[in-house]
Amino acid sequence: MKVNKWQRALQKNRPASLKSLKKYCKEAWAELVKERDGYKCVLCGSTAYINAHHIITTKCVLTRYEVDCGITLCSGCHNFRITSAHVSPWILYEWLRTNRPKQYRWFLKHREAVRDEQPKLLTDDYKRILANLLKKQRSN
Ligand SMILES: [Zn+2]
Repeated sequence: MKVNKWQRALQKNRPASLKSLKKYCKEAWAELVKERDGYKCVLCGSTAYINAHHIITTKCVLTRYEVDCGITLCSGCHNFRITSAHVSPWILYEWLRTNRPKQYRWFLKHREAVRDEQPKLLTDDYKRILANLLKKQRSN
């Protein structure tokens, strides 16, 4: 767990670069998603090579760091198989509709946000996002 590294980046006397803040936000987000899903692929149950997959493209800044935007998948279910989330996303959407109705409703509500004008996030935005993700981690 890299929590300490993420917390240090938020300390005022340690200016963190935009690049590292962006990386830490991604890591903290992925950790929360995997923790929620019990560190296993939700589709096949594998615990090997698991990734947090964005159900709405990462191009959408507005949803990129929402835990509801993530789902834990193994590399096969994520990228490599014909049925994987990147090749055949509707299979994952159907799984969500059946197994995670609340998250599926979140997806339906937010999937159009990718068409909205995306804000350009600055250092302070990433610090706020990282602080929120860390707060969620502590409350779990
Ligand atoms: Zn899998």
